[in-house]
Amino acid sequence: MTRPTTCHNCGHNGLEIYQQFEKLGLVTSDCRPCRGTLRLARCPECGLLQKLVDQDFSDTCTLIYDQYDAYHQAGGQEQQTYSDDGQGCARSRKLLEGVLDHFPLPDTGRLLDVGCGNGVLLRSFGTLRPSWRLHGLDLNDHAREQVLSIPGVEAFHACDLDAVPAAFDALSMLHCLEHVPDPVAFLRKCMDRLAAGGLLLVQVPDFTANPFDLVIADHCSHFEPATLREVVRRAGFEIVVLRQGLVPKELTLLARRPAPEAQAAVAMDTAPAPGLPKRADTARIADALAWLAALLDQARDLCREPLGVFGTSIAGIWLLGQLGDGLRFFVDEDVNRAGRTLFGKPVHLPADAPAGSRVLVALPSFIAENVVRRLREAGLDPTPPRHFPGP
Ligand SMILES: [Zn+2]
Repeated sequence: MTRPTTCHNCGHNGLEIYQQFEKLGLVTSDCRPCRGTLRLARCPECGLLQKLVDQDFSDTCTLIYDQYDAYHQAGGQEQQTYSDDGQGCARSRKLLEGVLDHFPLPDTGRLLDVGCGNGVLLRSFGTLRPSWRLHGLDLNDHAREQVLSIPGVEAFHACDLDAVPAAFDALSMLHCLEHVPDPVAFLRKCMDRLAAGGLLLVQVPDFTANPFDLVIADHCSHFEPATLREVVRRAGFEIVVLRQGLVPKELTLLARRPAPEAQAAVAMDTAPAPGLPKRADTARIADALAWLAALLDQARDLCREPLGVFGTSIAGIWLLGQLGDGLRFFVDEDVNRAGRTLFGKPVHLPADAPAGSRVLVALPSFIAENVVRRLREAGLDPTPPRHFPGP
C-alpha cells in the first residue's frame, strides 16, 4: 500500500522523498539519541523541505515532548555561542543584541515568548529591556515556577495560543516554528495575538548552514531563507528583515503585523508567490545529505581507535546514537557542560582531555576551522569533516 505523502505546509499531495535519509539515524531537539525512522521530503509545489507529518512523526514527537529536558547537558544552562577566539555568550542574548542593533525597540511594551521553555529568551530580554512586561507560553507546566521567577515576567501560559489574552507589542519564537505542522496557520494565530504594528521575531535553524538540522526527529520544517520568508508572508506579515548567520547556523526574521487597512491588502495576497520557493536550490539538499552520510562513514572509520567528538549538542549526540560505545568521550569548551558525564561518556574541557587523543570536529567547515586550531593548541589531534560550503 502506498502511504500518502501530503505537504503539511501547502497540502500538495506528491512529496519527493529522499530515500537515503532513512540510513542516517535521528536525534531529538533536546539532544537525546532517538530510535525509529522518519521520512524526509521536499514539496515540489511550495519548495519546503520537511519531515513527512504522518503517524510515525506524531508518535515520535509525543514521546520526545513528554520527557523534554532542554539543556540537560549543562544542568539547564542555556547553550553558548562562540566567537572565533572561543569567547562564549548566551545564544538568546547574542540574538537580541543583534536584533536591537537593527531595530531599536521602545523602552516599554508587552512581549509574548512562544515556546519559552525555561525562559532563556525572557531572561535575556528582561536584562536588555527591563521595563517591558513579559509573558511566556509553552506546551506544558514543567517550567512555570522557573519562568515566573524571572524579573519582568508577569504571566506564564500553558494553553493554546488562542487562549492567551491579546494584544502584545512583540511576539518572539525561538526554535519553535520548525516543530509546528502547518506553519502558516500557526503564524496567523500569532498575528491575532499582536497589536497592529506589533513585531514578530522568529529564529529557526538554517539547514543550508547546518545540515544536522535534518536529523532532528521533531523538526518537521527545514527552512532556508526563501521558504521561511514565504510562510511568514503567506500568514499576512510584512517582512522587516531576514538574516542568515546573525547567530551562526540560524535564520533570524523580524516581521510586522500590518496596520488594519494595509492588512486587508496583504490578506488578498497570501497565495504562494509563483516561482519563488521553487528557485530553492535542490542541490543544497543533496549536498547536506551527502555530507552527513560522509561524516558518518568517517566517524565509523575513525572509531576503530579511541575517539572523542567535539560538542555535546545535536551533532555530538547524533553521532553517539550511531557509534554507541565506539565513541569514548566528548570535548566541550562550555564550562557548564565539562566535568559531567553524558549518557555514560565523560565530557572534558579541551585542556583536560587525554593528551594527543583524536577528536572528530563534527561541525560545518566554516565553524570547524577555528575549533580545529584551538584543539590543536590544547594538544589534541582534531580531525575536521569533509568540506561543507555553508550558505
Ligand atoms: Zn508544499
